[in-house]
Order: sequence, then structure tokens, then C-alpha cells
Amino acid sequence: MQIAVFSARAYDRRFLSEVAEHEGHGLTFLEPRLDRHTVTLADGYEGVCIFVNDTADAEILATLASGGTRLLLLRSTGFNHVDLQAAEQHGLTVARVPAYSPYAVAEHTVALMLAVERRLHRAYNRVREGNFALEGLLGFDLRNKRIGIIGTGQIGQIVARIMRGFGCSLRAYDPYPNDTVRDYGVRYVDLDTMFRDCDVITLHCPLTPDTHHIIDAEAIAKMKPGVMIVNTSRGALVDTPAVIEGLKSGQIGNVALDVYEEEGDLFFEDLSDRVIQDDVFSRLLTFPNVFITAHQAFFTEEALQNIAETTLVNASAFAAGERSGNELTHELVSGDARGGSDDQDA
Ligand code: NAD
Repeated sequence: MQIAVFSARAYDRRFLSEVAEHEGHGLTFLEPRLDRHTVTLADGYEGVCIFVNDTADAEILATLASGGTRLLLLRSTGFNHVDLQAAEQHGLTVARVPAYSPYAVAEHTVALMLAVERRLHRAYNRVREGNFALEGLLGFDLRNKRIGIIGTGQIGQIVARIMRGFGCSLRAYDPYPNDTVRDYGVRYVDLDTMFRDCDVITLHCPLTPDTHHIIDAEAIAKMKPGVMIVNTSRGALVDTPAVIEGLKSGQIGNVALDVYEEEGDLFFEDLSDRVIQDDVFSRLLTFPNVFITAHQAFFTEEALQNIAETTLVNASAFAAGERSGNELTHELVSGDARGGSDDQDA
């Protein structure tokens, strides 16, 4: 199958090309994001492969379908950027990568927690400049701290296991509690209890209408003063202006983010010689107790290899008139409040 790969970076070329040769697909790598201006580049390609900040709304899906596209391949687990109902209307099959390395994301989550609370970002720069003073770098022990995990699917479960190793006390909220997670010593609680009791709150649920801005001003007001908020899931789970207010008042003590609601205009690009136009994001960058990475939690060798393999196996199954089991349908997803993930295994 001929596949147009949008938002293609050097690492996508490397991992996808190796697998494509084996699976017998022809890939055309396109650097731009899929949007209204670039969608015609996909004309004539039966398969189109996209990443998290590409746009796949009703208008774009209609254009893709009229240009001959039959298959939309997501190089991601999350699919909140795809209008599945419109895809179905236009006869497009959508397939994702349900699990590539939940360890990559879980380990990055813990790296962010440690980095922000031990002020590693400040320490790194200070030492390089010959400043060996410790003022401003005071952290806290994670041991005995209470960690609240929102969403105990594949990634949340691994975060729970790792944090248990740190000697933390674990709480979780998930509309679908899971006995395996209970075996890790996690106690399921409601959100208000979690907000009241936890020192760290880490987000591992999908972005759905239910979870949009799950961390907003009201939620922040219920939290323990000095709470740490960690988001490696999806930017719009968090109301960023409310977080900024919480940081200014001291209600929030630490914030660690790998995702941002408006990241589509920023992340995955080198903008170092440009003026950032997003004032909310720029304000976030000014806080000493905020640590941000640019959607890199997934970015490990193992994860990229798995993404490439699953993506192109999805294409092979489609080409053979079969199902890989990774297809998304509007019905399946709307009937599944877990965000369409039936498979809870890593
Ligand atoms: P998963 O489907 O295995 O788990 C999601 C869990 O969230 C499920 O247990 C589900 O029951 C729960 N959930 C659903 N609605 C909820 C709600 N309202 N409140 C609390 N929990 C709810 O998904 P996963 O593989 O663990 O991934 C979690 C999220 O991580 C994905 O949705 C994706 O957005 C994000 N992610 C980020 C990166 C990154 O690079 N930063 C990479 C992969 C995934």
C-alpha cells in the first residue's frame, strides 16, 4: 500500500522505513502537519499516517476520502484528534497503536516528578555556571508521600508499581477500578478525596468530554496546599490559566508537564529563533517550580520500534482485507467510557 506519512521526522523515517520494507509498503514522508493547507498532499494515497498534533476533523477526513484515502493510521494511542464518526461516514478505516511502551511514558512521568521537586533543571544550569549554592533547590522525600493516580490503565498501573518502590502511599481514581492495581497497594477513592489527601496528582486518563479540564480552578481549590500536578497524558485535561493562578497563590507547589492544551502550535518544532506568541505557555515557563518537556514521554527506541511495527501491521491487515484488532469505530468508542481501550495489558 502507498502511504503518506504526515508530521514525519528523521526518527519516523528511520523506524518506519525498516519495517515498511519488510511489510512491503511504500512510504512518502511529509514534514508538514496534516491540516487544511496540506491535506491535498495526500491525494491518491490509499493510506495516510498521522501523529498526535495532526488534524483529522470532519472537513479533512472528507477531503482525504475524496482523494482516494481508505485507511487512516495513527502513530499514537490517543485518538481524541480524530473525528471517528466522520471517518465512518466517509468509509475510512482508522487504526491506532493501542500499546507501544507504557513503560516509556510511566518512566518519563517519574523522571518529571523527580526533576521538578529536586529542581534538577536549576541545579544543572547552576553547576555548569560554577554556582554551587543550594538555596532554591530544596526538595522533599517522595517516600511516604501520597500519590493520586487518575486513570489506572496501562500507564497508570506502571506508575503505581514504580511509586510503590519509592515507598509512596497510593490512591487512584478510575471509573473502572482494577484488581491488579489494588494488588499494588493502591486504594481507589473519589476525586474529591484524592484532591484533599494527595501530595502528588498524576494524570493517566484519556481526553474525553468527561475528562476535559478535570484539573480546573474548582479542583485545584480542593487540593492540598503545595500539591504537585503531573500531566503526561493530554494537555486539555488541565485548565492551564487555573494552574497558573494556583502557582501564583502557592496552592500548587510543583507542576510537571509533557503535554499542553495548545501544544499543536509549539511542540515538535524548533522555534528557538522565534518569538513565542502563546502568552499562557510563556508565563508557565517563568515559574521556577514548573518543568516542561515537549511531548517526549513516548520517545524511546523501544516505543518507536513498536509504533512502526504496529502501524504497518495495521496497514498490512487492511490491505489483506483483514482486521488487526486495532481499528477504532465511533460506536466502540462512544460505548466505552474508558476511551476505547479494551485491552488493559501493557
Ligand atoms: P489506557 O486506555 O490503558 O488507560 C486509560 C485509563 O483511564 C483506563 O483505565 C480508563 O478506565 C481510565 N479512565 C477513563 N475515563 C476516566 C475518567 N473520567 N477518570 C479517570 N480515569 C478514566 O491508556 P494508557 O495507555 O494508560 O494511556 C493513558 C493516556 O496517556 C492516553 O489516553 C494518552 O492520552 C496518554 N499518552 C501520552 C503519551 C505521551 O507521549 N505523553 C504517550 C502515550 C499515551
